[in-house]
Amino acid sequence: MDSVCIGLTSSNRVTFTENSIGRFLISALVTRLSLDHVPVCGDWIGHGNVGVPLVRCPCLSGLSYDECCEHFHSGATALTPEALMRSRFSAFALGLPVYLLETWHASTRPASLELDGDIHWYRLDILSKSAGTPQDATGSVEFEAFYRGTRTGSQRENSAFVRERGRWFYLGEEARR
Ligand SMILES: [Zn+2]
Repeated sequence: MDSVCIGLTSSNRVTFTENSIGRFLISALVTRLSLDHVPVCGDWIGHGNVGVPLVRCPCLSGLSYDECCEHFHSGATALTPEALMRSRFSAFALGLPVYLLETWHASTRPASLELDGDIHWYRLDILSKSAGTPQDATGSVEFEAFYRGTRTGSQRENSAFVRERGRWFYLGEEARR
């Protein structure tokens, strides 16, 4: 694999690069990822089909985005609070406020949500979790999410989730409900 290190700094840029076996790799979509998720060479490996980017998921599951949180951002149902938590972190990282609102329980959901484009969410640590099994209607996930940009720091929260009609929703911080 060569010629695959692609610098991505400008918005909405699509770059075509040819690798050693002559396939074109397309690097779109990466513009909203944090710097930690800008692909390095190894992230861009032909997927069998030409032009399918494999970039690691912002939630740091170890999977690529298209194998992980993209499913949920495209409408798949998260089966556990942790999966929903991870997909919501990825939505923050990628700038997907609609997904964040859709997965926020109606009882606590804000009327609108504006994400700070100057903040890059780059790391998620899952600290603990409780309940949230298929037998449960509630669950919680404690996490620490790290950001940098015009401000740098982390947010730690024990998030509560509730399941309704087979779907998990984010309720809010456990202690503050
Ligand atoms: Zn993910």
